[in-house]
Amino acid sequence: MDHLSDLDRHFVLHPATNLAAHQRQGPLIIERGEGIYVWDTQGKRYIEGLAGLWCVALGYGEDALVDAAAEQMRKLAYGQLFASRSHEPAILLSEKLAHWLPPTRSGDGPWRFLFGNSGSDANDTQIKLVRYYNNVAGRSQKKKIISRWNGYHGVTVGSASLTGLPVFHTHFDLPIEGILHTDCPHHFRHAEAGESEEAFATRLAANLEGMIQEEGPDTVAAFIAEPIMGAGGLIVPPATYFEKIQAVLERHDVILIDDEVITGFGRLGTPFGCQAMGMRPDTMTLAKALSSAYLPISAVAVPDWMHEAMKEPSDKLGAFAHGFTYSGHPVAAAVALRNLQLFEERDLIAHAARVGQHFQARLAALGELPFVGSTRGRGLLGGLELVRDVSAKRRFAAEDKVAIRVAALALERGLLVRALAGDTIAICPPLVITEAQVDELFDCLQSALRAFADETA
Ligand code: PLP
Repeated sequence: MDHLSDLDRHFVLHPATNLAAHQRQGPLIIERGEGIYVWDTQGKRYIEGLAGLWCVALGYGEDALVDAAAEQMRKLAYGQLFASRSHEPAILLSEKLAHWLPPTRSGDGPWRFLFGNSGSDANDTQIKLVRYYNNVAGRSQKKKIISRWNGYHGVTVGSASLTGLPVFHTHFDLPIEGILHTDCPHHFRHAEAGESEEAFATRLAANLEGMIQEEGPDTVAAFIAEPIMGAGGLIVPPATYFEKIQAVLERHDVILIDDEVITGFGRLGTPFGCQAMGMRPDTMTLAKALSSAYLPISAVAVPDWMHEAMKEPSDKLGAFAHGFTYSGHPVAAAVALRNLQLFEERDLIAHAARVGQHFQARLAALGELPFVGSTRGRGLLGGLELVRDVSAKRRFAAEDKVAIRVAALALERGLLVRALAGDTIAICPPLVITEAQVDELFDCLQSALRAFADETA
């Protein structure tokens, strides 16, 4: 181990990491990046097959974003939005976002944007808005939020409660009260024998209806969903899923919170994932590609009716008492604004849609390899699930850690991908990836899967 590795193991507590394994193996230290590639401290090059943590949409080394940050830092390094103070980057970014978003579901009034620093704090804000809104609307019983098993919504006390992965709850005394989890919409894993996607979606919607009835419709306020589940296993919902789920939500006056933290800004070949997956959200959570992760920034898109309902009560109390020191940080906002301008100038959504077709074709072809039970995705987002026995969909033993093994074999071949729960490998490259680079990525992954098959057979 070199000096930096030693220091890392001594002084850095790594998030979302096997702490014991980290002490044994040490870190992979990445030093620089350019486009879709990054280099480690030994000079080895990797394809960043997960765009960092699903976030570096424009790719690495984008000078225009560096310039936007430097310019804003020189002009006004910090500015706040508390107590009616404002600054140009937050105002112009909000206006830009309002143009990007689909119309609010009710169709009347603008979106407003409440900024944060991460997807987690934005989803925490969502929980607080649900509470505030229902309290001021005189429905103080209507507070429960339904999330889904395998959904990923972050790690703060509130957002980790929304997250439907037990490892994020165990030993943390989570979830908090008032957060419920309904079925994971994973057809490959949870459909009954012979059950079509549509029939599976009908069953899940009926289960949701049952849960709401059991809890009492006047106690259930919101449902949160990612258009495609990311960290929980790259799960694409079955055909007709959101249509059927939304009919249940509408019947019981339950708002739909759309977590676009991964799927927002072109990932599925549409501006937002909701448009690709047939969702009509009431509110949206945005982060990651909003700034291509050059600086941390997130936003909650708040519809006009929610803002209107909170206006008078905040007058009475003296403030809508929520927000962070760094809400709408001018440097992060300036970078996010420039990022979205670059998306427009380079027609990046259309590019993602076009290259995404090739990406999906290469992904689907991996389904022919041994031990690949399912491939799935949309646009430039994909996953594959490893199984011991493909025809019986029989899983590997958990202790085999096969996704971690395949990710390690990919890493040896110069490709960074992510091993997820459920023996799934996730792929989510920067949106600037070209068709030739998609081939390079999938050639590496295919070679890793072949090596895995050889050592496993
Ligand atoms: N929501 C989704 C869908 C995510 O994928 C993530 C992070 O991966 C989050 C929320 C949390 O975002 P952050 O890690 O910025 O807190």
